[in-house]
Amino acid sequence: MNKGKKLYEGKAKIIYLTSDKHLLIQHFKDDATAFNNLKKSKVEGKGVLNNRISEYLLLSLSQCGIKTHFVKRLNMREQLIRRAEIIPIEFIVRNIASGSLTKRLGITEGTVLEKPLLEYCYKNDELQDPVVSKDHIYNFDWATEDEINKIDKMTLRINDILIGLFKGIGIKLVDFKIEYGKAWNKDKNENEIILADEISPDTCRLWDSKTEKKLDKDRFRKDLGNIIEGYQEVARRLGIMPEIANVKEVNFNKPSSVKFKKK
Ligand code: C5P
Repeated sequence: MNKGKKLYEGKAKIIYLTSDKHLLIQHFKDDATAFNNLKKSKVEGKGVLNNRISEYLLLSLSQCGIKTHFVKRLNMREQLIRRAEIIPIEFIVRNIASGSLTKRLGITEGTVLEKPLLEYCYKNDELQDPVVSKDHIYNFDWATEDEINKIDKMTLRINDILIGLFKGIGIKLVDFKIEYGKAWNKDKNENEIILADEISPDTCRLWDSKTEKKLDKDRFRKDLGNIIEGYQEVARRLGIMPEIANVKEVNFNKPSSVKFKKK
């Protein structure tokens, strides 16, 4: 598969064309941004971890029958994906109140929601991705009613699968953002809706079940330090990248003088 021209560069990823018009290469960068680009930094190794975590999660979802854009991992930072026309909506699912929901509506952080809450945000950096209603989506032709009905069902199913997957490794899935696109299905000779983009600690809130320690991008947003440690912990618990299990902080003892015995 030949890597072609850069098609698009986003905050955390670059998309390249390939020699096949239905396939693209998604490259994960180490760049971290928050608050609509106001806060920026490089987090070394983040792209590598997100590539692997997203691969794992999308493959787990496709094993449960969810259609995704993921084709295969190409190397440590890149994966081959199906080309899709992205629906300009961020689909947010919340199980526990946090982040913008608490700010917008004054809901106490950590409130467990009675049922998953779906929110739709219009993907537009200049407008800071505003929350919109389904009527906005239909009125401005961002997606049809039929497409949103399908997407809502897929999104709730994805939430169920991911809640279980994370519960098994002692992590609470607080909330997450996903994106969908329309891609060509050559067997059916029609477009179909597929899960696109990524699912990683950049796009989810993940809390340790016991301690509620944050293992996601909030570590960067809130200056909690050790951002990469949270991402590594998620990868370690998912059983991917076993090599990072060997990476431990090195504690040097205070140097002490060495006495040699006189001969
Ligand atoms: O900021 P907010 O509370 O609305 O975020 C909800 C969830 O969606 C969080 O998991 C956050 O990481 C994710 N999100 C994202 N990209 C955005 C906005 C939110 O991945 N542009």
